[in-house]
Amino acid sequence: MAKVLVFVEQRDGKNKKSSFELIAASAAAGNETHALIVGDSVTALANECAQYGANKVHVVQDAALKNYSAEAYARAVTTAIKSLSPEIVLAAHTPMGKDLLPIVAAQVDGALATDCTSLQFSGSSIAVKRPVYSGKAMAEVEFVGSGVKMATVRPNSLGLPKPDTSKTADAASITVDLSGLKTKILEIVKGNSARPDVTEAGIVVSGGRSLKSAENFKIIEDLADSVGAAVGASRAAVDAGYRPHRDQVGQTGKVVSPTLYIACGISGAIQHLAGMRTSKCIVAINTDPQAPIFQIADYGIVGDLFQVVPALTNEFKKLKE
Ligand SMILES: Cc1cc2nc3c(=O)[nH]c(=O)nc-3n(C[C@H](O)[C@H](O)[C@H](O)COP(=O)(O)OP(=O)(O)OC[C@H]3O[C@@H](n4cnc5c(N)ncnc54)[C@H](O)[C@@H]3O)c2cc1C
Repeated sequence: MAKVLVFVEQRDGKNKKSSFELIAASAAAGNETHALIVGDSVTALANECAQYGANKVHVVQDAALKNYSAEAYARAVTTAIKSLSPEIVLAAHTPMGKDLLPIVAAQVDGALATDCTSLQFSGSSIAVKRPVYSGKAMAEVEFVGSGVKMATVRPNSLGLPKPDTSKTADAASITVDLSGLKTKILEIVKGNSARPDVTEAGIVVSGGRSLKSAENFKIIEDLADSVGAAVGASRAAVDAGYRPHRDQVGQTGKVVSPTLYIACGISGAIQHLAGMRTSKCIVAINTDPQAPIFQIADYGIVGDLFQVVPALTNEFKKLKE
């Protein structure tokens, strides 16, 4: 059994479910599982952590922590690690997690494995698996030495059990000295999309260069909206200006691992596969039966996306009705 500290990511007062995957996995392995929430007025978020299995919830609260800043959050997490002395520290491999944990690892002289897709707890240590060479191989990593063992885990990799909604938590406060910070977030300008982010969504519908224009992406958006999915894109589509870079899936975009990934008119270049090959179920729609995407697809539709995608949207809408 290990003492595990899970950094629970929150934005705008909402916990990210990818953090709950980590709490649940740690608790299921019988570990002493601590959750750490950092932000401003975040005590109300503690109950959810308990409902996914956290034995103890800690909060670091300060107006200076309202918006994420690497410097301030790293100071908060480092202080919590020094005060709680966990053997293992986990965070989701989200833009925040992959920004934060390397800094914390350096500050506490810990060992860090990033972008893990599985965790194996053993005594006070863990072994992790992580994709390497753009997902063409898996590396199994063991931690040696006595330092804190840290890992960021790709969202949707571990699965999310049902929460026990009867549970509540008494959050314990950790005081952090935030004086002398060198940076301050002045403003966050949000994108105007109401759809989920590709890294968090359970379903992602992506389009490629074959969409031919930004306007044509409307059929991808309609399909996505019919199933509550996020919209993704290949780099070719992003480079052509059809979608913003935040939607790009792949080696130089975002890495996703949804339950369902629908690739519409995407060839399946290795750099695209690097960002989505760990999806649980892959559906590919492509006019070319030899397209490489079909080699990793669970279901393939050889056809014109301009016919297939609207037809799928209609069927999903009917199912919902
Ligand atoms: C260093 C580096 C990093 C990169 N990073 C990324 C990355 O992060 N993400 C990424 O995606 N790419 C990345 N790329 C680019 C990658 O190599 C490919 O060029 C890109 O993924 C191709 O995008 P695509 O599949 O949309 O376009 P294409 O390769 O042009 O494929 C279009 C596909 O659509 C099919 N098609 C055409 N018309 C239709 C139709 N009407 N209906 C159905 N199917 C149709 C075609 O048969 C074809 O398979 C990177 C490249 C490099 C060198």
